[in-house]
Amino acid sequence: MIITVTLNPALDKIIFINKLIKNHNNRSQKIVYDIGGKATHVSVVLSALGIENIATGILAGQNGEHVQKLLENKKVKCDYIWQKGNETRESLIIVPQEEEGSYMITQRGFGINKSTFDKIKQKLKALIKPDDIVVFSGGPPPKITVKMYRELLEIVKDKKAKLIVDVSRDYLKEAIDVKPYLIKPNETEFKEIIGKNINSEEEYINELKKLNEKGVSTVALSLGRKGSIISTKEKVLRIYPPKVREVNDTGCGDVFLGGAVAQISKNKGIKEIFNFATAISASKATKEGSSEFCLKQTYKLMKEVKIDLV
Ligand code: ATP
Ligand code: MG
Ligand code: MG
Repeated sequence: MIITVTLNPALDKIIFINKLIKNHNNRSQKIVYDIGGKATHVSVVLSALGIENIATGILAGQNGEHVQKLLENKKVKCDYIWQKGNETRESLIIVPQEEEGSYMITQRGFGINKSTFDKIKQKLKALIKPDDIVVFSGGPPPKITVKMYRELLEIVKDKKAKLIVDVSRDYLKEAIDVKPYLIKPNETEFKEIIGKNINSEEEYINELKKLNEKGVSTVALSLGRKGSIISTKEKVLRIYPPKVREVNDTGCGDVFLGGAVAQISKNKGIKEIFNFATAISASKATKEGSSEFCLKQTYKLMKEVKIDLV
């Protein structure tokens, strides 16, 4: 089984406008609601591929119900812990049609109380079996300290399941210490944990290898439209994505991870894993929604992915 854990999900409100101008009535052209995340997006990818998975984490209030409904519409099986008297956060994503990229305005989310934390620990202990794949993605909500986060990751390790983590800053540093199977930092997240600026791909690769030596089996450093560098103890791959017309890059990392997890669950080799991940995330870049992609386009794009052995 694959279990995805989103400790601080969000309801994404995607607002399409022409151009964002200060001191001006920026009238929206269209508003779309989508699932925010981020491990939720991994579940969406898996369910779209017909791969059984369970989405867990913490939800609350009407926004929480909206998120669960959106997940269920996408055939994701949900098994969340609900905290009473709170509201799952809402993220605003502003997409100016005349520019590339998007603006994101997020909320911190509600603080988790002790009883909710105990419940999520129990839930993980009950759900996870040896050899399962468990994906922790997205930052934890307020009041989940680095130490508490580690406690959750250690449940996965104790159960002898494959731990996959996509998180940032101190939480990522702590996760590395737990020796996960795979991490997927983007360029910013990677520079933050390394604590210095990096100017060449050689420097990146040196730093990635250090993480492999520390016990992380696979480090997937994603570089947005520039592609990715995948580092394992055995080899390093430099992957160049196909050229596509980018509409909204929010969620590309999550869809990349979802694609990778799907291939990992089928015991595919490293090239196949990241060829697929690269193609599906390129497809996602051409779509408006945070977890939207086209499978037919993905299979076509797979032939245009360039993989170099470094
Ligand atoms: P997220 O918003 O999900 O957190 P991220 O910042 O973690 O995203 P990115 O590095 O931006 O992740 O993107 C992940 C992968 O998606 C890249 O490694 C690349 O393969 C693919 N990708 C992103 N943008 C584009 C693009 N414009 N064209 C083609 N592929 C893209
Ligand atoms: Mg990015
Ligand atoms: Mg990301």
